[in-house]
Amino acid sequence: MEPNLRRCVSCRRVAPKSAFWRVLRLAHNGQVQLDYGMGRSAYLCAQSECLQQAQKKKRLERALRTAIAPEIYQILWQRLSAPSVDESGGSRSNSQ
Ligand SMILES: [Zn+2]
Repeated sequence: MEPNLRRCVSCRRVAPKSAFWRVLRLAHNGQVQLDYGMGRSAYLCAQSECLQQAQKKKRLERALRTAIAPEIYQILWQRLSAPSVDESGGSRSNSQ
């Protein structure tokens, strides 16, 4: 496998790592955080199916061999509901 390819812990899809969320356990203190840092990493597609599977089946816990705080999942769910592109001055549409 090419070094830039990663596998989703839920659906096993292989893609460039930029396509995934990265969840990692920091090597120095065992804290779990997102996106960056040095430590053991797990990758997850940025989609609700994979997040749901990961949470339900504890895929991230298994991959990282540690507990995943509910906050981590909350942040990821928020990312799903929020637009990934943050355009300054973008149109904010009010429904009604
Ligand atoms: Zn996936």
